[in-house]
Amino acid sequence: MIVILKPNAATESIVELKAALRKKGLQIHESQGKTTTILGLVGDTAALSEDQLLTYEAVECVKRIREPYKLANKNVHPKPTVVEVCGQKIGGGHFQVIAGPCSIESEEQITEVAKDVKASGAGLLRGGAFKPRTSPYAFQGLHENGLALLLEAKRATGLPVVTEIMSTSHLGLFDDVDVIQVGTRNMQNFELLKELGKLDKPILLKRGMANTLDELLMSAEYIMAGGNERVILCERGIRTFETSTRNTLDISAIPMLKKKTHLPVLVDPSHAAGLRFMVEPLSMAAIAAGADGLMIEVHNNPSQALCDGPQSLTPPMFDDLMKKIRETVRFFGMQ
Ligand code: PEP
Ligand code: MN
Repeated sequence: MIVILKPNAATESIVELKAALRKKGLQIHESQGKTTTILGLVGDTAALSEDQLLTYEAVECVKRIREPYKLANKNVHPKPTVVEVCGQKIGGGHFQVIAGPCSIESEEQITEVAKDVKASGAGLLRGGAFKPRTSPYAFQGLHENGLALLLEAKRATGLPVVTEIMSTSHLGLFDDVDVIQVGTRNMQNFELLKELGKLDKPILLKRGMANTLDELLMSAEYIMAGGNERVILCERGIRTFETSTRNTLDISAIPMLKKKTHLPVLVDPSHAAGLRFMVEPLSMAAIAAGADGLMIEVHNNPSQALCDGPQSLTPPMFDDLMKKIRETVRFFGMQ
């Protein structure tokens, strides 16, 4: 971190600033130009707040030269992280597809979709039991009963399961879940992230719909700082001025995240567009941009789906897409 001092800063205010920095265990490298004095801070500046430094009389501006996330940082950990879920690898050249309905609706629905997506080559099964809905009057999910049905579908197919958590108070219900998802609306629920950091279980962290990539990485850092380093990131579209799609898929997030972090990056084209016909082109674009996998909504009867029917593929559509995904993944040299 570097601190640029005001050209006319009073000596006492500079002395006060330096003493405060040294008290925090930092070394100061001072370089004096004709008009500007710069302090280079050496040491652990992660906990230092730029805003707080700006309150010192002598400070003109502060620049962080190293990102505040450490454990998620590619500079600190250059090798790509491969997250393993029940023998399925994600990241580091291993491409995975997570598929299933938006919500678990019945035993017949989840088991049928699970068998279909497995036959088409999906590696993991998704399905929501606790649904974050904009309206309190919309279907909220089957809660504990939904989780039980999801685990039945796991037993029937052998597919590991991914499902969303919305509250720390539900953590006890997630013991047998293989991957816990943090949805877009909870990306900055820091108390939830801290609790997930204590688990020995992969976490699928979706990007907040109005959050920057650095904010996403800081949320990953919350989980990792607790000791759980098995974090999978997911770009799922962000809010823009465009209204013809549900969100705007930020394709550039993929190469940028791959540059910033060693964590695997998935793409969810279903929630990004909200439209079935866009799932295939966005999936292809995601693979070409370097994604480590996809999360795709599949429903056996989309017109009757209790949630997100318009963006759900039918099992035959998913089967067709999987063939294209396999070809494209091979073309880009992944497994
Ligand atoms: C979901 O995956 O079911 C979901 C609600 O996603 P998001 O949090 O990205 O909207
Ligand atoms: Mn959904």
